[in-house]
Amino acid sequence: MADIAGLMARREALLGPNVAAFYNEPLHIVKGDGVWLWDADGRRYLDCYNNVPHVGHCHPKVVEAIAVQAATLNTHTRYLHEGILDYVEKLVARFDASLSAAIMVCTGSEANDIALRMAQAATGHTGIIATDMTYHGNTALVSQLSTRKPPIGGFAANLRHAPAPDALRRPSGDSFAEGVTASIASLAAEGFGTACLIVDPFFANEGFPTLQPGFLDQAVAAVREAGGIIIADEVQPGFGRIGTHWWGHEKVGITPEIVTLGKPMGNGHPVAAVVAGHETLSAFRNAFGYFNTFGGNPVSCAAAMAVLEVIETEGLVENAREVGAYARERMRALAGKYPFIADVRGSGLFFGAEMVLDDTNTPAGNFTARVVEGMKARGILLNRLGKDYATLKIRPPMVFSRENADLLVDTLDAVLAETPLVP
Ligand code: PMP
Repeated sequence: MADIAGLMARREALLGPNVAAFYNEPLHIVKGDGVWLWDADGRRYLDCYNNVPHVGHCHPKVVEAIAVQAATLNTHTRYLHEGILDYVEKLVARFDASLSAAIMVCTGSEANDIALRMAQAATGHTGIIATDMTYHGNTALVSQLSTRKPPIGGFAANLRHAPAPDALRRPSGDSFAEGVTASIASLAAEGFGTACLIVDPFFANEGFPTLQPGFLDQAVAAVREAGGIIIADEVQPGFGRIGTHWWGHEKVGITPEIVTLGKPMGNGHPVAAVVAGHETLSAFRNAFGYFNTFGGNPVSCAAAMAVLEVIETEGLVENAREVGAYARERMRALAGKYPFIADVRGSGLFFGAEMVLDDTNTPAGNFTARVVEGMKARGILLNRLGKDYATLKIRPPMVFSRENADLLVDTLDAVLAETPLVP
């Protein structure tokens, strides 16, 4: 038997307190393959949560690319190497022609930290706007974009948090644009000006509300009118996860000046990037003289290149579109049976269902927590997010099949039937 209590005690002693672990009884995972994970007792789980192993846990092509390059050379970008050039060339070919160059880093947080400073260097303004329910990472600057835990000493004076969209309770998009416009006015009044709006165009951490194409147009126009630029954080929706497009900003119909990438980019190998136009990127390079010891090293680039190739050769964007649509259709059928499912939403293999307690759409956070635990008990891993954490968050590796979707929805049916709807 896995010694969960013993491992938790060692973590507390060696890593300090308040280290996040999923589930009431945390899992001790020891092996992964495709969409499956195994715990130390040999129990198999269907992974419906992890987006980082984008092309499947331990994909042999990615493992091989890493191993071959690690056995040949791993240095840094102060030596010339084709690996980073070949990768960036292939990556930017997936974007609008205006987004033609990239800086490679190791985490989404680093990418967003650079993006914010790039926006400031490119515009000469310092004001930054984000939503009030977001998360973009953990550097001193980027962590202030999140309102979950206020920073010691309070938020920086040049930050504004605009109310996040909420399609269920506030279906009109106007309030988001209004919040952004008010932020622009207040940044102008205090002399910061607007450098950027940083936004995940799929609003993943905000609970991925269903938004119409054009939803962001008004806010984007207001930012540009004020001399600012748009940063699209594609760390969650990017690399085809949403099925209909490679990038979230394409789905919502905007072309940002800067795009940040991370999580799925190396299938678990720590690699991330900032993509921008040459001029915008040069403003940052000239202002800061940036170097990142591990960013863009040959092994990272080999891993990232293998991921791009597998997405293409295995048709994983099409798979996300097709299997995601099938899974949502089956979940909508469940919504007919369980009226507390207020909304089934998402795109491609990023989807979920929001649970409510009553007709006024009071979010059922505790109920959803019990559903997540019930799913784990039956061997399915997923999680929750959004308002009061009442939305199931389902985001499996992109090799998820119809058969996997059937197992997910059949199990959800059983768990919903046995979980009492109480606050
Ligand atoms: N942006 C978004 C939208 C994220 O969800 C996250 C992480 N959850 C990050 C950035 C930060 O990425 P990392 O943990 O690699 O620093």
